[in-house]
Amino acid sequence: MPSRNILSTSLAPLAEDAREIARTITAAHAERDDREARWPAETMAALSSARLTALLVPADLGGHGEGMLGLVAISEILAAESASAGLCYAMHCVGSAVIAAKATDYQREHYLQPIARGEHLTTLALSEPGSGAFFFYPEVTARRDGDTLEVTGTKSFVTNAAHADSYVISTLPFTGEGEEGQFNCLLLDRDLPGASWDEPWHGFGMRSNDSRTLHLDRVRLPAANLLGEPGDQLWYVFQVIAPYFLMAMAGTYLGVAQAAFDEARAHVGTRRYAHSGELLGAAPVVAHRLGEMWTELEATRQLIYSAARKGDAGHPDALSAIFACKAAAGDTAVRLANEAMTLCGGAGYRENGRLTRALRDARAAHVMAPTTDMLKTWVGRALIGLPLL
Ligand SMILES: Cc1cc2nc3c(=O)[nH]c(=O)nc-3n(C[C@H](O)[C@H](O)[C@H](O)COP(=O)(O)OP(=O)(O)OC[C@H]3O[C@@H](n4cnc5c(N)ncnc54)[C@H](O)[C@@H]3O)c2cc1C
Repeated sequence: MPSRNILSTSLAPLAEDAREIARTITAAHAERDDREARWPAETMAALSSARLTALLVPADLGGHGEGMLGLVAISEILAAESASAGLCYAMHCVGSAVIAAKATDYQREHYLQPIARGEHLTTLALSEPGSGAFFFYPEVTARRDGDTLEVTGTKSFVTNAAHADSYVISTLPFTGEGEEGQFNCLLLDRDLPGASWDEPWHGFGMRSNDSRTLHLDRVRLPAANLLGEPGDQLWYVFQVIAPYFLMAMAGTYLGVAQAAFDEARAHVGTRRYAHSGELLGAAPVVAHRLGEMWTELEATRQLIYSAARKGDAGHPDALSAIFACKAAAGDTAVRLANEAMTLCGGAGYRENGRLTRALRDARAAHVMAPTTDMLKTWVGRALIGLPLL
């Protein structure tokens, strides 16, 4: 868990509130939510009423005005109890950062102020079946018609699907406008005529995030819902979406790694054999493996928190460090969950225990775009001065 001394004075009480919600509410519902693939309604309601959902909304609009450090810390705290709840919270926060980046007065009043009051959930709907992991190349079309925009196409894997009040989506340039390679970001309200959802996607892990495919058939929305300028989508992707999303996921998978480590430490530190009276952790190889797990967890944590600070400070090297974080958190979560599963023996291997969930949830890290392979490639390209794409 993030120790109190690495958090700022404004963030520490928010992290305390998140710990309390995670301990009393998230932990109590995590197993059932995972088993029934049920959205973490109780956790999200508690986060909204504590106004933790206002984390990234600017202070002058009533939010907490926190940045990447806050996003990492709170995602980690929640994900240690339920990775799905961490993901649902994180996607809302990233969506709110995207809206805030270039918000107009209309968008401040209709989206950011309700988010600041804990009355509005948003989320990212960027991925599409056609472009898959290359989520920054949308095929959804948008056409201007006076003060209205008409949007058609399909978005896949939308977290918080049926529970969000709005969706940040990406589209091709408005028909007849813009150059090749330019894309737009728009804000879509829920339940608009022409929008329909497939049944929830049932994943191997991250089972409670209510991920669904959204079909848009000539959905009409106000032109005031354009985010930034036409053609701004790549700016949003690399300046806002990627940094905030990657830090949110780094925090989430760090929380999964922490949960796996906690289970392993608790088991090897208490399991005693009847025939010898020996503690399991007293076996040198077991203590050695636990020590390796702690070292990897702490190294990953330091990388992530240092990248978050660099990101918040606008450090010139921040982006490479941010790319590295989600890749490292994914690797660490998968490895530690796997190791813990071995060290915890039959107790860890039981159906739908905390560790079983951690192992399944961790595997989503390598699939969620930008994927681990992509991120490591981008870091390498940045280090030798090559363009990322
Ligand atoms: C639990 C979960 C929640 C999600 N939530 C959201 C959400 O809220 N919003 C959203 O917009 N999207 C979301 N996504 C979508 C996600 O971010 C990815 O876009 C999507 O899972 C990848 O698409 P695909 O399955 O078509 O993979 P594919 O594009 O088929 O890729 C398959 C694999 O091949 C790899 N690959 C592809 N090209 C290369 C290459 N050139 N070199 C090396 N490897 C390559 C990829 O990295 C990937 O591992 C979510 C996904 C999951 C699993």
